[in-house]
Amino acid sequence: MVSELFDLTGRVALVTGSSRGIGNAVANGLAEAGATVVLNGRDRQRAAEARDALRAAVPGAECDVVCFDVTAETEVVEGVAEIADRHGGIDVLVNNAGFQHRESMFDLSVERWEEVLRTDLTSAFLVGRTVARDMVRRGSGRIINICSVQTELARPSIAPYTAAKGGLRNLTRAMTAEWAGSGLQINGIAPGYIATELTSALVADPEFSGWVTGRTPAGRWGSTDDLLGPAVFLASDAASFVNGQILFVDGGMTAVV
Ligand code: NDP
Repeated sequence: MVSELFDLTGRVALVTGSSRGIGNAVANGLAEAGATVVLNGRDRQRAAEARDALRAAVPGAECDVVCFDVTAETEVVEGVAEIADRHGGIDVLVNNAGFQHRESMFDLSVERWEEVLRTDLTSAFLVGRTVARDMVRRGSGRIINICSVQTELARPSIAPYTAAKGGLRNLTRAMTAEWAGSGLQINGIAPGYIATELTSALVADPEFSGWVTGRTPAGRWGSTDDLLGPAVFLASDAASFVNGQILFVDGGMTAVV
């Protein structure tokens, strides 16, 4: 049955940065597909509220919260161990936590540059290898890295973000090179412009917002729900021979000039 291919019952999924936005929508989608979902973020109150909302939206869903900063190795190691203790291990990791800082390269401090790289790239390496150690031992596991159209396209004022997301695309390939032989599947999703807290100032700017709708063949901003199907697909048996790929979910933005 085709629908069984998408069934995630019995799988445990950690979605980093899932107290709001894309990560939260993806977590809801994985829970609807049957997975036990672990929400994450740094703000414990907000993550707890997201857990309660998920339980209300998906009746019967198994949903937990483990908060840690994805850029802090000790916190990452402790957080992943806590999930293993409570749930017996992680089958699906979505490296989603990220942020963007808008400033020209001439004004950007090195500290800010490093902060963006640490949050948007180094975090995937830290959380990825911590989770992958157990996945390799078990001979299976899925990792989904949330990239961006900025893996392919550059805009002014977001140089560290663009560099980090381009790096994340190639980190996805590097993870595939090291871990696919041990039964892991590592893929990326590259969203186009999605209306979230991260992009709220851009959505509110008529000039920028008009540029997005004009530049996107689908003629609209993406919604967080646009990411559900792709994430469930890559986490599921339906993607059993998909490895090292980046799935662009951008309304066609990167397909046209
Ligand atoms: P939001 O700002 O809405 O949500 C970000 C989430 O990440 C929050 O849950 C936040 O929680 C968490 N987070 C941020 N930093 C850390 C950290 N150091 N440790 C743990 N959690 C953290 O962003 P979006 O949902 O828009 O973006 C999610 C991902 O999608 C990002 O990687 C982004 O680059 C990517 N993306 C977004 C696009 C868009 O148009 N929105 C387009 C393409 C890619 P808290 O603050 O409590 O830590």
